[in-house]
Amino acid sequence: MTVAPSTTTLEAPSSPPQSAELPTSHGQHKLFQRVRGQMNRAADAIGLAPQVRTILDSPGCEVSVTFPVNMDDGSVEKFTGYRVQHNNVLGPFKGGIRYHHDVSIDEVRALAAWMTIKCALVDIPFGGAKGGVQVDPARLSRREIERMTRRFVYALGANIGPGYDVPAPDVNTDARTMAWIVDTFAATMPPQERYRAPAVVTGKPLSAGGIVGREKATGQGVADLIAMWAADEECPVDGLSFTVQGYGKVGSWAARILQGQGATLRAAQDVTGAIRAKDDAGLDAELLAEHVKQRGGVAGFPGSESFSLEEFFATPADVFIPAAMENQVTAETASLLKVRVVAEGANGPTTPEADEVLTERGIAVIPDVLCNAGGVIVSYFEWLQSRGGAPWSAASVDQQLNCILRVAYRRVREMAADKSLDWRTAAYAVALHRIEQVYNERGIFP
Ligand code: GLU
Repeated sequence: MTVAPSTTTLEAPSSPPQSAELPTSHGQHKLFQRVRGQMNRAADAIGLAPQVRTILDSPGCEVSVTFPVNMDDGSVEKFTGYRVQHNNVLGPFKGGIRYHHDVSIDEVRALAAWMTIKCALVDIPFGGAKGGVQVDPARLSRREIERMTRRFVYALGANIGPGYDVPAPDVNTDARTMAWIVDTFAATMPPQERYRAPAVVTGKPLSAGGIVGREKATGQGVADLIAMWAADEECPVDGLSFTVQGYGKVGSWAARILQGQGATLRAAQDVTGAIRAKDDAGLDAELLAEHVKQRGGVAGFPGSESFSLEEFFATPADVFIPAAMENQVTAETASLLKVRVVAEGANGPTTPEADEVLTERGIAVIPDVLCNAGGVIVSYFEWLQSRGGAPWSAASVDQQLNCILRVAYRRVREMAADKSLDWRTAAYAVALHRIEQVYNERGIFP
């Protein structure tokens, strides 16, 4: 079951691009190849030790499982899922599990490597991993998703574990999914060991060992980093305007928190369409979150008007928050943007060509590995809590989160200034430097 297969044997068939969902042309790059390019650029900038570059150039372990699930109509369907463990020199593997029809081994590999960089950048003792099942969850009933989750966890077996590899929510998975994972994992442990089961995942429901504030943590981090950028620019958050792509856990929480601080949501877009405010008051981020919960998307939000994807990208605002999938900011859509900063709530939303366009146009980028790190930081607090730590208060979660992000933000800003780097390369450089330190101390077995 644990294998390090070649790309050809594992590559899942790619789904056709969905024109309603994606910009007219999106990045054709193999995602993991993109991460390699990003790591190499940063490695060159800091003269990274060649052996560290070699180690990070491919994942440590890749698990691919195909498993049957009983469907509600009595039929059986087979699903394919992956867990890629990129690197664990800093601590247990860490990273979410996503359910999406576009999941492929290449995507999961890239997402796992981004977790390695993210955890090293914010200096928490975790390595990088990611999991995914290739499925359109909208096609499945709740019971089918539960059975699929449990069977996936069973198939992963000892490849995950409280001190070894700790999954969390990601696209289309949530606290309920994590509760099923804990329950299934516990069922496979000897009874005397079961007390350890809750630490096998983070992002659990509060009542099942979760931590206060985990659901909003990624969005909170996005809002915190926008506030740090705004302070550097000497423009108060109160008065900023912003647009959001994707109104799920990350986008909706970032929007609600920013609105609470006086910023204005001008437009939002997701798979159901693009909407904008009819007047300067903007869209009500709280009511929009309620609407999305009930209607499954932003389309038809009362008081808004729908407009085209092209117009959405061209909406004038201070901040654009991509909080959906990869490859949304392309050379084409980047040239439409009329914002001052792109705050990457999603993982990998910007293609390398788009990065060049943004740099040329003087649009700042708060890169994903920094901008969306709030989720895994609060996951770390939850993991400590689940391993016997005292419960955290909401205030201490927010305060410690902000503190860790502030240090990381400052390090990236300093690295960018010292080495004249763009912020993405600077963020990678800080992370790689951290990983290099550990390899220097520990050496390489034997
Ligand atoms: N899925 C989130 C991410 O991409 C959170 C990961 C975690 O908490 O382990 O950062």
